[in-house]
Amino acid sequence: MTGCIGKEKIDAFRKLLGNARKVALAAHVHPDGDALGCVTALALYLKRELGKEVVCLFPDSLPESLEFAKNPSLRYLTGTTEDDADLIILMDCNSFSRTDVLGDSLAASRAPKVLIDHHLNPAQDSFSLVFSTPDISSASELTFWILKALGWDLKDRETGEAILTGMTTDTNNFANSVFPSTFTMASELIAAGVDRDALLQKIYFSYRENRVRLMGYMQNEALKILPEGAAYMILTKEIQQRFDLKEGESEGLVNVPLSIKEVRLSLLLKEYEDHFRVSLRSKKGTSAQQCALKYFNGGGHENAAGGRLYPATDLGGKSLEEYVKHALLESL
Ligand code: 5GP
Ligand code: MN
Repeated sequence: MTGCIGKEKIDAFRKLLGNARKVALAAHVHPDGDALGCVTALALYLKRELGKEVVCLFPDSLPESLEFAKNPSLRYLTGTTEDDADLIILMDCNSFSRTDVLGDSLAASRAPKVLIDHHLNPAQDSFSLVFSTPDISSASELTFWILKALGWDLKDRETGEAILTGMTTDTNNFANSVFPSTFTMASELIAAGVDRDALLQKIYFSYRENRVRLMGYMQNEALKILPEGAAYMILTKEIQQRFDLKEGESEGLVNVPLSIKEVRLSLLLKEYEDHFRVSLRSKKGTSAQQCALKYFNGGGHENAAGGRLYPATDLGGKSLEEYVKHALLESL
């Protein structure tokens, strides 16, 4: 991890920050807890410690369940950019294409651009400076180590809370992609006064009843298991309506089938207007990422990936379920 935050890079970052009056921080479409956490933490530092004007940009809206993690002292914009930023920082995704409607205008800006990310294959050429490593829990953790290298003293509790929220959600509460550095960070944050119990209450113990009932329904009625070692669920629009499901409320569902001993690869399809959003999770030794790349127009991490499926053009004559089964079996 430390290799991606050498002294030279920190000096270069300090210089870029020194030259900037207004900084725009952007993250990926369908923002999750890590996207919100790292953007919020870095924005707080830039505003409070360095006195910068900051704006936080998301291509589309955050799930209601994450509203608690926005910081009221920051400006968050959805689906729109401001062209007067003189530094752009892209976080928790590896290229501007992942920022959907914001991508073209961010990429076209003449402001210097910095990438802070933990996905594979960063689009190096689009940036003046790249902090990127897959050997870390989350973009929020990477932000923590960058802030420490810049001289952050951990005293601002809200910055620490944002980081711990991002890491906790991206690792599914220390279950996946956790490294020694992750525990060191968590220990330092908690020692500095971040209230982890309060955060866990907000993240995992504040669901609406319908969300828990939907989880039960999907596991009982929709889960299909292939004896070769894969599982899938299709969350249709009809089911979403029946359970009055809001954005973000199927988060976590795709992990559940991996608790079955024989299942090595799990897929969730969630139906939207003209496409399905795809979530994939795998156990070590099976690549969710390759499956997403090859069959679902996506990518991600080795064991947690996603993409999109457009049935009108992608199925190659197969039915939806035939296509999904084929993709899973070929990826085992
Ligand atoms: P989730 O299943 O939680 O939506 O996504 C899991 C991971 O897959 C994300 O952290 C992200 O890295 C990746 N991912 C999800 N959707 C896409 C996509 O459409 N394109 C790419 N390249 N990665 C995705
Ligand atoms: Mn992330």
